Amino acid sequence: MAIWDPWRGCHRYSEGCKFCYIHKGDARRGVDTDHIVRTENFDAPVQRLQRGKNKGQYKMKPGQTVYLCFRSDFLLEDADPWREECWQMMKERSDLHFLFLTKRIDRFLQCIPADWGHGYDNVTVGCTVENQRQADYRLAIFDTLPICHKDIICQPMLGPIDLRGHLENIELVEVGGESDREARPLDYSWVLDIREQCIRADVPFHFRQCGSNFIKDGKLYRLNVRQLCAQARKAGINTGKNGEDGQSTQVCDA
Ligand code: SF4
Repeated sequence: MAIWDPWRGCHRYSEGCKFCYIHKGDARRGVDTDHIVRTENFDAPVQRLQRGKNKGQYKMKPGQTVYLCFRSDFLLEDADPWREECWQMMKERSDLHFLFLTKRIDRFLQCIPADWGHGYDNVTVGCTVENQRQADYRLAIFDTLPICHKDIICQPMLGPIDLRGHLENIELVEVGGESDREARPLDYSWVLDIREQCIRADVPFHFRQCGSNFIKDGKLYRLNVRQLCAQARKAGINTGKNGEDGQSTQVCDA
C-alpha cells in the first residue's frame, strides 16, 4: 500500500464535510485548508531511486494499491491544471492500482484525459454518498460513467440510505460513521440495512468504522477514536472482497 498526495487542501463541499479530519488537523496546526497547493511529492509514482543497488528503479514498488488524494479530493476544481499530469503518471504506472474517493463525481467527465475511453483498468473510483439526497444525485451520475472499477462509500453515514438500483457493477460498498465529539449519530440498523442490500445484489460490503456517537438497539454509545474501527471489526459483518463473511452481534455489547 502506498499513499500519493499530489496536492494538499480542500474546500468543504457537502453535508459530509462538516467534521472533515483534514480541516480539523490543519486548524490545530494553523494551516489554511482552503489554500490548495501542489506538494513536493506531486510526481511520487514516477520518482526513481537515486542511489543504491536499485538505482534508477521506481521508488513505489509495483503491485501496490496507491491511495490517491486521501487528504483532498482528486476532482477538486483548483487542481484542474495539474490533473492531466497525474493521469499520465497513472498510465505510465500500469503496474500499480490507484484508488481515489470523491464527492465531486458530477465533475468527472470534465476531468478525464482524452484517452480515457472506457476507463483505465488500474484505477478505482469511489463515489462518496453521506445521505439519501446525495446518493440520489451522485449515484444517478456515477451509474452512467465509464469507469472500470467502481466503489460506493457511505461515510460519514448520516441517515439510512437506499442504494437499490445503483449496485450493478459496484465492486465494494463501504460504510462508516462520523468521528468527532459532536458527531452526528450512526444507527447500527442503517449499517445492517445496507449490508442486506449488498448481499441481495451480490456486492461485497465492508463496515469500516463505527461513529463517535453510535446507536445500537436504541442505546447511544460514545466511542473514542481508537474504538471506531475496532468495534466495527468486532461486528464481523464484512462480506466478500477482503471480508470475513462472518456474522456477529458483538459490536458495542458490554
Ligand atoms: S471533500 Fe473530503 S477532504 Fe474535502 S472538505 Fe470534504 S471531507 Fe474534507
